Amino acid sequence: MTLNPFATVAEKIDPSPKVSDEVKTTTCYMCACRCGIKVHLRDGRIRYIEGNRDHPVNKGVLCAKGSAGIMNHYSPARLTAPLLRVGPRGAGEFKEIGWDEALAIAVEWLGKIRQTDPRKLAFFTGRDQSQALTGWWAQQFGTPNYAAHGGFCSVNMAAAGIYTIGGSFWEFGEPDWERTRYLLMFGVAEDHDSNPIKIGLGKLKGRPADRRAKFVSVNPIRTGYSAIADEWIGIRPGTDGMFVFALIHELLRADRIDLDFLVRYTNAPWLVVQDPGGATDGLIARDGAGHPFCWDKQRGQAVDALLPDVAPAMVGEFALADGRRAVPIFQLLAMRYLDARYSPDEAAKVTGVPAATIRRIAAELAHAAFEQQFELETPWTDWAGRRHERMIGRPVSMHAMRGISAHSNGFHTCRAIHLLQILLGSIDCPGGWRYKPPFPRHTPLALKPAGKPGDVKPNTPLPGPPLGFPTGPEDLLIAADGTPSRIDKAFSWEAPISAHGLMHMVIANAHKGDPYPIDTLFLFMANMSWNSAMNTGGTMAMLTDKDAASDEYKIPRIIYADAFFSEMVAYADLVLPDTTYLERHDCISLFDRPICDADGAGDAIRQPVVKPDRNVRPFQDVLIDLGARLGLPGLIKADGSPRYPGFYPDYIVNHERVPGVGMLAGWRGKDGDRQCVGERNPRQLERYIANGCFWRYELPDEHKFYRHANKGYLDWAHSVGFIARPTQVIFQLYSEPLQKFRLAARGHGALQPPDHLRARIDAHFDPLPMWYPPFEGAAIDGASFPLHAVTQRPMAMYHSWGSQNAWLRQIHGHNTLYMNRQTAERQDLRDDDWVWVISHHGRLRVQLKLMEGVNEDTVWTWNAIGKRKGAWNLATDAAESRRGFLLNHVISELLPPQPDGHRYANSDPITGQAAWYDLRVRVEKAKPEEAGETYPAFATLTPPRGTPARPALLTYGAEFRERD
Ligand code: SF4
Repeated sequence: MTLNPFATVAEKIDPSPKVSDEVKTTTCYMCACRCGIKVHLRDGRIRYIEGNRDHPVNKGVLCAKGSAGIMNHYSPARLTAPLLRVGPRGAGEFKEIGWDEALAIAVEWLGKIRQTDPRKLAFFTGRDQSQALTGWWAQQFGTPNYAAHGGFCSVNMAAAGIYTIGGSFWEFGEPDWERTRYLLMFGVAEDHDSNPIKIGLGKLKGRPADRRAKFVSVNPIRTGYSAIADEWIGIRPGTDGMFVFALIHELLRADRIDLDFLVRYTNAPWLVVQDPGGATDGLIARDGAGHPFCWDKQRGQAVDALLPDVAPAMVGEFALADGRRAVPIFQLLAMRYLDARYSPDEAAKVTGVPAATIRRIAAELAHAAFEQQFELETPWTDWAGRRHERMIGRPVSMHAMRGISAHSNGFHTCRAIHLLQILLGSIDCPGGWRYKPPFPRHTPLALKPAGKPGDVKPNTPLPGPPLGFPTGPEDLLIAADGTPSRIDKAFSWEAPISAHGLMHMVIANAHKGDPYPIDTLFLFMANMSWNSAMNTGGTMAMLTDKDAASDEYKIPRIIYADAFFSEMVAYADLVLPDTTYLERHDCISLFDRPICDADGAGDAIRQPVVKPDRNVRPFQDVLIDLGARLGLPGLIKADGSPRYPGFYPDYIVNHERVPGVGMLAGWRGKDGDRQCVGERNPRQLERYIANGCFWRYELPDEHKFYRHANKGYLDWAHSVGFIARPTQVIFQLYSEPLQKFRLAARGHGALQPPDHLRARIDAHFDPLPMWYPPFEGAAIDGASFPLHAVTQRPMAMYHSWGSQNAWLRQIHGHNTLYMNRQTAERQDLRDDDWVWVISHHGRLRVQLKLMEGVNEDTVWTWNAIGKRKGAWNLATDAAESRRGFLLNHVISELLPPQPDGHRYANSDPITGQAAWYDLRVRVEKAKPEEAGETYPAFATLTPPRGTPARPALLTYGAEFRERD
């Protein structure tokens, strides 16, 4: 028979094939955004992940990372059983043990510590989403040495926001995407709020012509969101504060600020004592009840500034009843920022942004705020009981994140951005930046860190959580002689407001025994020998260093929990293997980082969609089990039996912080008919699962704006425990807590910093936002290290814990160093050249790529692509280790020595935030014989026995197609 080449092929088309036999909802964990997902299962295997259209975070949108969660789940890098080290630390020689043995070892180590000196446990976690549990567990154990990933990443944003507006960007707030007409974004690539920002930008871009919005991105590099910005401002790293102050200078000069907003909602009218050299200089003048004074123009006297009917003076100098002089905060503010040193011309020299551009952006902001003002016909009642018929919209919004945060001047820069927002009157108004519940909160927060020397006792929980918000020297965690109480020196004079700890200093301090030796380092999901460390080579050496006399490791014991064979596993003595996010329960709680949005409160869970096929346990279960075995008071009943025998799901449902308030806010009460406050509901998890694994409460329209002063919202927020009192949240343009630390540095008060830190505290604890050059650049010879070096988050690997993902690594198998083309050509450097990147701390050999969209004084690369050979069960010749690299290798955890030899941590002096982006380098061409592989390279790691075989050719999914 001859074939007829023109015959019609009989095609079978199924436009809607059945891809699964079961679909389960849960919450994505491929980055920190917490999108809702639907996981399609076929024969018990995961076939497909789609976005949950009903979910408030992503509304069905799913990014590449989220879809590729399948490859994380089936990763050949998954750990398969508990491991006990049998060879030298770092060699990766382990034997498999059972869970009973693993927990018995942990109980023996930790039990001894708890009975003698709980400080000797340092418990630090990475980017987990269970800090409501881990922080509480540390408190129950009695150690102050606890923190999570925030000190690495964004504590400058969080602390500056909390101390200024009682909220902050990302998790605590978002632009009014529907109504804003101008979005100014600082230091964000494709990260920190990935899908929600993409959805929001889509809304801005999709507007009709008559409501068009402008999106301006301020970032040294034009990647991610900046690539679709209407205007990209390629600023010099670490100078954003000067840019913002120049905008403020222009707005003040042109009188383009919302003075009514300042009078109503901020401390701008409050009087500040002017008593140079005195103990109260710079403090707020207060009455006997502690209420701040303002100067009432009608009464001609100082009155309680919290009264609703005052007519405060915003400028002038006034005599207080006791004879001291005082001026309104607004006057201090205006005098500072109207000074010529903050003019656009001066700022242009620092930032590299032309003065004309700064002036134009200031004018555009003012135009959007005031000429595009609009009103919502929504009546509301303010904190004083005054009814307003409508809400005024100022459609200017802002968003900022890690590019601002990861500098040693980041706290003040972030405060400066909030100051700009406040001057424009665009906080929580229609079109502006809006809080997400449970924010706003009163600022500064009343929560203080526990862990003063008297708080830490054997077999005793701490009296409060280890992290909090100091408001003066009396809140520091220091001994009588000023010695830090914590191993990371958080809440000491070295970083007084380190609200998230200083995780990047833990290993270096523990290795030195400074301020004291520890016994056990307990880490979860923190790759501290690699991409979560500064000075990676030095860190590995510290983890393996032994005391010459005793031949014991200087950090005696290390327990590590991770789902994967990350670089840190080799340095653990005991490895507790975690599940993947698709195999366990999690709780995305209002106590922690929930899934709220500006229009409503929400929280979520993860449920196991598949059962583990290995001898692994969810870390949260293990922590609860371990706590019960240790006899931690919150984890056992009076008879000593475990309080939560059903482990984390049991804890999620039954643990309460105060009666009626637990981990989840939805479906509380015996019958599940209460929300936020109510009895425990034994069927709560079932209700969440039935609802797609999330709960959401939509605020009524009259509660959606001006929540810092909206009586209806404040009353409701108080009734459900979000805030301690239903009173106005007053924005702190001037931060009195900072001045209290500064006064101590100037010799006032019972608690004063040690002499070598006085000048540093005095210089940086300015109650008004300020700018100073990033520390590393100021400490080195700028001519020797002329370039700034930073990282960006790749859109396929934002948050980097997907780096071993078989699908995603095809997008970013290795990274290169990107450099401005003109800068490179001045050095005779070409595309694909191999170059040395040299900092004051070390050198890297990498391959170069040239581009236009980068500040000419900046080089950059993708974050955390480089892997150590053999780690993550990658082939030893994998691109990640041959051609990938980390900038971390050339970042030091310490700044260059001072003249007296002292070396400060590479941190913000206020919050202790790791100053990753202060790095300065020079780039030199490598010799031809040096080309081909990145440097440094470290000894190859061998995956533990039992690690699954790597497929030579990945064909995941083929089996499903064959069956279709
Ligand atoms: S943005 Fe993050 S949480 Fe959302 S789908 Fe992507 S990886 Fe998952």
